[in-house]
Amino acid sequence: MRQIVDRDEPISREVWDRDEAIAHFQGIGEIYKAQIIRDIPGGEPISVYRQGEWKDLCRGPHLPSTRHVGKAFKLTKLAGAYWRGDQANAQLQRIYGTAWASDADLAAYLTRVEEAERRDHRKIGRAMDLFHNQEEAKGMAFWHPKGWTLYRTLENYIRRRIEAEGYLEVKTPQILDRSFWEASGHWQKFHANMFTSETAEGEVLAVKPMNCPGHVQIFSHGQRSYRELPLRLAEFDGLHRYESSGSLLGLLRVRGMAQDDAHIFCTDDQIEAESRAFVELLKVVYRDLEVELHCVKLALRPDQRFGTDAQWTVAEDTLERAARAAGVDVERLPGEGAFYGPKLEFHLRDAIGRTWQCGTLQLDYVLPERLDASYIGEDGAKHRPVMLHRAILGSLERFIGVLIEHHAGAFPLWLAPVQVVVATITSDADDYAAKAVGALREAGLRVESDLRNEKVGYKVREHSLAKVPVIAVVGRREADEGKVALRRLGSDGQQVVTLDEAARLLSKEATPPDLR
Ligand code: ZN
Repeated sequence: MRQIVDRDEPISREVWDRDEAIAHFQGIGEIYKAQIIRDIPGGEPISVYRQGEWKDLCRGPHLPSTRHVGKAFKLTKLAGAYWRGDQANAQLQRIYGTAWASDADLAAYLTRVEEAERRDHRKIGRAMDLFHNQEEAKGMAFWHPKGWTLYRTLENYIRRRIEAEGYLEVKTPQILDRSFWEASGHWQKFHANMFTSETAEGEVLAVKPMNCPGHVQIFSHGQRSYRELPLRLAEFDGLHRYESSGSLLGLLRVRGMAQDDAHIFCTDDQIEAESRAFVELLKVVYRDLEVELHCVKLALRPDQRFGTDAQWTVAEDTLERAARAAGVDVERLPGEGAFYGPKLEFHLRDAIGRTWQCGTLQLDYVLPERLDASYIGEDGAKHRPVMLHRAILGSLERFIGVLIEHHAGAFPLWLAPVQVVVATITSDADDYAAKAVGALREAGLRVESDLRNEKVGYKVREHSLAKVPVIAVVGRREADEGKVALRRLGSDGQQVVTLDEAARLLSKEATPPDLR
């Protein structure tokens, strides 16, 4: 690499005749490149880049010469890859590298990659025994007891937060008839991402990819009055969307998920106050989860859209005003909105500076229209409600994946699946350890004990790898004095307190932020 860079060889683009290109690459034994050229659709130019004696097929663009690669590069890994991803084909070698403008940029990038690998939620998920994936259920997690505890703790926290804001929780069917999805428009627009099946009676059904049309059914069941608005319906039920198997990634890219999903049915006049309340709630939740709200984007009218320009102007300005009133700045994204309305996107920034879009608030004039949802207004006439689709975390699976990587598994005490492990130094403290476990459980903590005949240093190391936030060490002396020695994850020191004191201290710290 260094020699090639030093030679400063010019890189030039040539367009070749297809048959000549095939003959050339076939002739020098590059049969795969010849195959690629054969597969390029007719009419497309066959571009070849030349750099000294080296000629290669590429669409480009390229640097003007090899000098421009500079010195800040690194070859990062080698991996085997089957030709065209098919195991029946020959195995080829792939070389990965990265190049940057300066050594400092390269070093920063490599540190980021290393840190991201250390925080990989699949690796930490294994170490903490949270979940696993397997081939027979691609894109869907098997949640182990500890992972499910984490999941439910987060879900219950959000549930309490939204209940306090006047949301009503519902549950709608998982599998619905094709005609239902045709009426909502999902069959036509989203069919490729839906799991479908056929019954023995010939019914064609689809598993729900989203809750929206189901919530409209509940809204429309019986005549609604303006007095019931805004009506906020929430649901945590499972959703399924087909994603290609190659795109799946642990909890971050899945086929099966649940969202902290809700739909607010309201009048035009209520959009601003509802949107503002949502943004304020989202800020509280992100603060509680110790993630930083990095930016808020407002996706504006696309070319293909429903409604008049005047309607869109009002809708876009209303969302922007609501966000500003809640104390956040908005970055406008022209043309990025859905055809049915503008959208606020909330991006958080994790501990190593990566950003993730999680929360959304989407205005929708179309679905209530399509499904003929209405309410009786103050004037006694029928009106169309507006629908706000909103989620704070988005998919719980993905959010937990992000949260694991953000905290590197070291969750705040209230979220940690196992909060305390009581570990004995010697077996003569076993009875006292059982008493300590009982007292800490009594105080509402999630506690396990470790009575194994192992050195205490070994036990501490093992539970630290499993990211247990507090290890309460007990030996003969602690038993005699009615005390425990608390060791915190990531700290070498210990704090010796009475058992009562430990229960009081830790249960206070383990109280979810909304209950403090
Ligand atoms: Zn929705």
